[in-house]
Amino acid sequence: MAQPKQISEVIQNDQPHWVGDGFRVYSLFSMQEHGEKLSPFLLFDYAAPTQFPPTDKPRGVDSHPHKGFETVTIVYQGALEHRDSTGSHGTIGPGDVQWMTAAAGIVHEEKHERQWSRQGGVMQMAQLWVNLPAQFKSATPGYQTILKDQIPTVALPEGGGTVRIIAGQYQDTKGPAKTFTPVNVFDLRLKAGHSTTLHLPDGFNTAITAMDGAVTYNDQTSVQSVSVAIFDPAGETIRIEAGDRDAMLLVLNGRPINEPIAAYGPFVMNHPDEIKEAIADFRAGKMGRLD
Ligand code: MN
Repeated sequence: MAQPKQISEVIQNDQPHWVGDGFRVYSLFSMQEHGEKLSPFLLFDYAAPTQFPPTDKPRGVDSHPHKGFETVTIVYQGALEHRDSTGSHGTIGPGDVQWMTAAAGIVHEEKHERQWSRQGGVMQMAQLWVNLPAQFKSATPGYQTILKDQIPTVALPEGGGTVRIIAGQYQDTKGPAKTFTPVNVFDLRLKAGHSTTLHLPDGFNTAITAMDGAVTYNDQTSVQSVSVAIFDPAGETIRIEAGDRDAMLLVLNGRPINEPIAAYGPFVMNHPDEIKEAIADFRAGKMGRLD
């Protein structure tokens, strides 16, 4: 009989802050406190629906570097435009995901899409940071644009909701993201009053973010949005029951990397000396620049 993964911590956040002028986010965890406990996941920010007036100057985050990990951007509403120092350029909209590998170093900007900005509208998105093991921290930077149509959706029984498999595997269905270590990322929508039981690998770390609605885990712990529940690695199942509203969740599950984490701003390495090197490399223009 499979044992449930027990909750070790629930973090609730009702104090959003601005990232640049384009993203009003609830930070649910970051590597300073949870880097080891949630490895390979480093950080999660959720931008709840926010209305933006029309503008000719797209809002967002200006040019900045990253090194040593991956950023995963999920759009729920709105449209985002990305440019980076590898010469890549891309736009993602509702249901799309951008999986960017910073690895050896990249400089990018993250903005509301130009046309979308001219009309204004509601922006709702999330960004997840996924660590890389030492052997891949110097990999070639790049990114995968994963469009909505490429992400398989599995319907839960009895109209209970849907699971969109962004990365990893749910039952027999695999997600499109190419990852460096085993990672499951599921966009889980659970209809009000319905429940489901996830089967996840024993020994993998798990965090489930509740971005909308309220849910009860393992018939024991009830949480409200915006929150994250962090589970012990031991065990293989998590039962989730939605309350009287539809729940919007993101399931994060991955094999721990088990290496030291040295993090400073946009750089995540193994040792403080590598952080100094990253800062020097960025200043010397070795991570490239935006034209
Ligand atoms: Mn960034």
